[in-house]
Amino acid sequence: IKKTVSVLGLGRMGSALAKALVGQGYEVTVWNRTPKELPNTRSVATPQEAFKSDVVVTCLSTYDVQQPLLTNEIKTLVNLTSGTPEQARATAQWAKDNGVEYVDGVIMAVPQQIGTEQAKIFFSGSENHHVLQAFGEPVYVGEDAGLAALHDLALLGIMWATFGGYLQAVALVGSEGIAPERFTPMAMSWLNEMGTLLPEMGEETRTRQYETDVSALDINVAGLRMLTEANREQGLDTTIPQALHDLFERAQRGGHGTHSIASVIEEIRK
Ligand code: NDP
Repeated sequence: IKKTVSVLGLGRMGSALAKALVGQGYEVTVWNRTPKELPNTRSVATPQEAFKSDVVVTCLSTYDVQQPLLTNEIKTLVNLTSGTPEQARATAQWAKDNGVEYVDGVIMAVPQQIGTEQAKIFFSGSENHHVLQAFGEPVYVGEDAGLAALHDLALLGIMWATFGGYLQAVALVGSEGIAPERFTPMAMSWLNEMGTLLPEMGEETRTRQYETDVSALDINVAGLRMLTEANREQGLDTTIPQALHDLFERAQRGGHGTHSIASVIEEIRK
């Protein structure tokens, strides 16, 4: 028999999760602060009523709004609210102290992808992932409950840096009338190419051997200075190129001028 599942939080993501559970044949109970009905689910007025289910899935905006709702009546908590590794560990500790089984998950997808294999669900803590399968492809990242959040934020960091860089580039070419639809295919093939460089870069950060015959940091610092200047000349904001320039330049001053870009990690780790 399938377990009974409750979903706390029926925002954009929580609604998608509840729908996916219904689609997989689970008996689903839902609770939302602002009362909300969802087809083929049972709505309850208090979180306590939702805690009677075998599994409670939470998907609220932040840990701060979630923590006050939790009680030791919960049997298994599958926490899909985003937070920091420390917040996840504190919730895991709370769960342990209260005899609650704890799974900490992060959703690497948008609501529209939930229930498809495009949705990766990283999870840590307990290896009990049956419910997660309804949402996408579960990927276990370790026993330490903070690890799912750590991976989540690391990947989102790449996303934000990439999107920031793309938007800056669109503004830069756009300042000369070049349309995004002309520029975007170039950006996409460039990103694909850049992605292939990551394994070697990762290896350099591991061995800390930064000798290069490809491109030295000196040249990249000069390039970032040009990029910052070009954005300024076009009347654009320079926060992103300036920040990168300053970081790379600190690594250069730290003695990495002739080393590869990977050496910047020495400055980041300081
Ligand atoms: P929404 O803003 O759509 O929903 C927020 C939910 O939190 C609602 O159910 C809201 O209830 C509830 N909530 C907010 N404040 C309180 C409170 N004080 N007490 C009780 N409930 C409260 O956000 P999403 O659904 O998009 O995001 C939910 C979580 O999922 C977040 O942690 C987010 O980072 C994560 N996530 C979202 C993704 C996305 O693409 N949307 C992708 C990956 C992760 P009410 O309806 O009453 O306001």
